[in-house]
Amino acid sequence: MDYDTYGSNAVELAIDLANTDRVDPEWVRGFLGAHTEWFTDGTALSLGDSDADQVARVSTLVREVALAGSEPEVMTRLNALLALASPRPYATDHDGELHLHYARPDADALEQLTTTVAMGLSQVVVQHGWQRLGVCSAEGCGNVYVDTSRNASRRYCSNTCASRSTVAAYRARKRA
Ligand SMILES: [Zn+2]
Ligand SMILES: [Zn+2]
Repeated sequence: MDYDTYGSNAVELAIDLANTDRVDPEWVRGFLGAHTEWFTDGTALSLGDSDADQVARVSTLVREVALAGSEPEVMTRLNALLALASPRPYATDHDGELHLHYARPDADALEQLTTTVAMGLSQVVVQHGWQRLGVCSAEGCGNVYVDTSRNASRRYCSNTCASRSTVAAYRARKRA
Protein backbone atom coordinates (compact mmCIF):
# COMPACT_ATOMS: atom_id res chain seq x y z
CA MET A 1 0.00 0.00 0.00
CA ASP A 2 1.41 3.34 -1.00
CA TYR A 3 0.45 6.04 1.45
CA ASP A 4 3.34 8.29 0.67
CA THR A 5 1.50 10.57 -1.72
CA TYR A 6 -0.07 13.99 -1.73
CA GLY A 7 -3.51 12.36 -1.48
CA SER A 8 -2.58 10.41 1.60
CA ASN A 9 -0.97 13.45 3.20
CA ALA A 10 -4.19 15.31 2.45
CA VAL A 11 -6.13 12.74 4.47
CA GLU A 12 -3.87 13.50 7.42
CA LEU A 13 -4.85 17.15 7.02
CA ALA A 14 -8.50 16.05 7.13
CA ILE A 15 -7.93 14.00 10.28
CA ASP A 16 -6.06 16.88 11.93
CA LEU A 17 -8.97 19.17 11.16
CA ALA A 18 -11.51 16.72 12.58
CA ASN A 19 -9.47 16.32 15.78
CA THR A 20 -8.80 19.99 16.38
CA ASP A 21 -10.11 21.24 19.69
CA ARG A 22 -12.69 23.98 19.06
CA VAL A 23 -12.89 25.44 22.55
CA ASP A 24 -10.76 28.46 21.66
CA PRO A 25 -12.85 30.82 19.47
CA GLU A 26 -9.67 31.47 17.47
CA TRP A 27 -9.14 27.77 16.72
CA VAL A 28 -9.56 28.16 12.95
CA ARG A 29 -6.79 30.75 12.83
CA GLY A 30 -4.60 28.43 14.90
CA PHE A 31 -5.33 25.47 12.66
CA LEU A 32 -4.58 27.35 9.43
CA GLY A 33 -1.42 28.83 10.94
CA ALA A 34 -0.19 25.34 11.81
CA HIS A 35 -0.82 24.06 8.27
CA THR A 36 0.40 26.88 6.04
CA GLU A 37 2.25 24.43 3.77
CA TRP A 38 -1.14 23.38 2.37
CA PHE A 39 -1.94 26.81 0.95
CA THR A 40 -0.60 28.57 -2.09
CA ASP A 41 1.88 31.30 -1.19
CA GLY A 42 0.05 34.54 -0.61
CA THR A 43 -3.29 32.98 0.41
CA ALA A 44 -4.97 35.10 3.10
CA LEU A 45 -5.30 32.87 6.15
CA SER A 46 -7.46 35.09 8.33
CA LEU A 47 -11.06 34.12 7.72
CA GLY A 48 -14.28 35.99 8.38
CA ASP A 49 -16.86 34.51 10.75
CA SER A 50 -18.94 32.79 8.11
CA ASP A 51 -15.90 31.19 6.48
CA ALA A 52 -14.71 30.05 9.90
CA ASP A 53 -18.15 28.50 10.49
CA GLN A 54 -17.74 26.63 7.22
CA VAL A 55 -14.37 25.28 8.37
CA ALA A 56 -16.12 24.00 11.50
CA ARG A 57 -18.74 22.33 9.30
CA VAL A 58 -16.04 20.64 7.23
CA SER A 59 -14.36 19.46 10.43
CA THR A 60 -17.65 17.94 11.65
CA LEU A 61 -18.28 16.24 8.31
CA VAL A 62 -14.82 14.64 8.29
CA ARG A 63 -15.47 13.33 11.77
CA GLU A 64 -18.86 11.96 10.72
CA VAL A 65 -17.30 10.15 7.76
CA ALA A 66 -14.74 8.56 10.10
CA LEU A 67 -17.45 7.50 12.57
CA ALA A 68 -19.77 6.01 9.96
CA GLY A 69 -20.55 2.35 10.57
CA SER A 70 -21.59 1.14 7.14
CA GLU A 71 -20.81 1.77 3.50
CA PRO A 72 -24.12 3.53 2.71
CA GLU A 73 -23.55 5.80 5.70
CA VAL A 74 -19.99 6.55 4.56
CA MET A 75 -21.20 7.39 1.06
CA THR A 76 -23.91 9.75 2.27
CA ARG A 77 -21.52 11.60 4.56
CA LEU A 78 -18.66 11.64 2.08
CA ASN A 79 -20.97 13.04 -0.58
CA ALA A 80 -22.14 15.77 1.78
CA LEU A 81 -18.49 16.74 2.22
CA LEU A 82 -17.68 16.48 -1.49
CA ALA A 83 -20.64 18.73 -2.29
CA LEU A 84 -18.77 21.56 -0.53
CA ALA A 85 -15.57 21.00 -2.54
CA SER A 86 -14.65 22.74 -5.79
CA PRO A 87 -11.97 20.53 -7.30
CA ARG A 88 -9.89 21.90 -10.13
CA PRO A 89 -6.78 19.75 -10.10
CA TYR A 90 -3.44 20.83 -11.50
CA ALA A 91 -0.04 19.19 -11.77
CA THR A 92 2.90 20.73 -9.95
CA ASP A 93 6.47 19.86 -8.98
CA HIS A 94 6.98 22.70 -6.48
CA ASP A 95 8.56 20.30 -4.00
CA GLY A 96 10.70 18.55 -6.60
CA GLU A 97 8.24 15.73 -7.24
CA LEU A 98 5.43 15.74 -9.77
CA HIS A 99 2.03 15.50 -8.08
CA LEU A 100 -1.52 16.81 -8.26
CA HIS A 101 -3.08 19.54 -6.19
CA TYR A 102 -6.87 19.40 -5.97
CA ALA A 103 -7.87 23.04 -5.64
CA ARG A 104 -7.29 26.08 -7.85
CA PRO A 105 -4.06 27.77 -6.72
CA ASP A 106 -5.84 31.15 -6.55
CA ALA A 107 -8.84 29.89 -4.55
CA ASP A 108 -9.36 31.41 -1.12
CA ALA A 109 -8.23 29.55 2.01
CA LEU A 110 -11.67 28.06 2.69
CA GLU A 111 -11.96 26.63 -0.82
CA GLN A 112 -8.41 25.27 -0.82
CA LEU A 113 -8.90 23.64 2.57
CA THR A 114 -12.36 22.20 1.88
CA THR A 115 -11.36 20.82 -1.50
CA THR A 116 -8.07 19.32 -0.36
CA VAL A 117 -9.64 17.69 2.69
CA ALA A 118 -12.67 16.34 0.82
CA MET A 119 -10.63 14.97 -2.09
CA GLY A 120 -7.88 13.52 0.12
CA LEU A 121 -10.36 11.78 2.37
CA SER A 122 -12.44 10.36 -0.46
CA GLN A 123 -9.36 9.10 -2.34
CA VAL A 124 -8.30 7.05 0.65
CA VAL A 125 -11.81 5.75 1.33
CA VAL A 126 -12.31 4.73 -2.30
CA GLN A 127 -8.85 3.22 -2.77
CA HIS A 128 -8.29 1.56 0.59
CA GLY A 129 -11.75 1.10 2.12
CA TRP A 130 -13.80 3.07 4.64
CA GLN A 131 -12.80 0.60 7.37
CA ARG A 132 -9.43 2.38 7.36
CA LEU A 133 -11.07 5.22 9.25
CA GLY A 134 -11.83 4.79 12.91
CA VAL A 135 -12.11 6.34 16.33
CA CYS A 136 -9.45 6.01 19.02
CA SER A 137 -9.98 3.15 21.50
CA ALA A 138 -8.25 4.96 24.36
CA GLU A 139 -10.57 5.79 27.20
CA GLY A 140 -11.79 9.39 27.07
CA CYS A 141 -10.09 10.23 23.77
CA GLY A 142 -12.56 10.21 20.89
CA ASN A 143 -10.12 11.38 18.21
CA VAL A 144 -10.51 9.88 14.75
CA TYR A 145 -7.68 8.38 12.70
CA VAL A 146 -6.82 6.91 9.34
CA ASP A 147 -5.14 3.53 9.54
CA THR A 148 -2.11 3.45 7.26
CA SER A 149 -0.60 0.34 8.80
CA ARG A 150 0.14 -2.56 6.47
CA ASN A 151 -2.20 -4.99 8.20
CA ALA A 152 -4.90 -2.47 9.17
CA SER A 153 -4.36 -3.07 12.87
CA ARG A 154 -4.49 0.46 14.19
CA ARG A 155 -6.73 1.20 17.18
CA TYR A 156 -5.40 4.48 18.55
CA CYS A 157 -5.14 8.04 17.25
CA SER A 158 -1.54 8.45 18.42
CA ASN A 159 1.38 6.74 20.11
CA THR A 160 0.48 8.67 23.25
CA CYS A 161 -2.96 7.05 23.41
CA ALA A 162 -1.55 3.63 22.52
CA SER A 163 1.02 3.65 25.32
CA ARG A 164 -1.42 5.22 27.81
CA SER A 165 -3.82 2.33 27.11
CA THR A 166 -1.07 -0.28 27.36
CA VAL A 167 -0.09 1.04 30.77
CA ALA A 168 -3.74 1.14 31.91
CA ALA A 169 -4.31 -2.45 30.74
CA TYR A 170 -1.14 -3.60 32.52
CA ARG A 171 -2.26 -1.96 35.77
CA ALA A 172 -5.73 -3.48 35.44
CA ARG A 173 -4.20 -6.94 34.95
CA LYS A 174 -1.99 -6.45 37.99
CA ARG A 175 -4.96 -5.45 40.11
CA ALA A 176 -7.00 -8.44 38.97
ZN1 LIG B 1 2.26 20.01 -3.25
ZN1 LIG C 1 -6.54 8.91 21.14
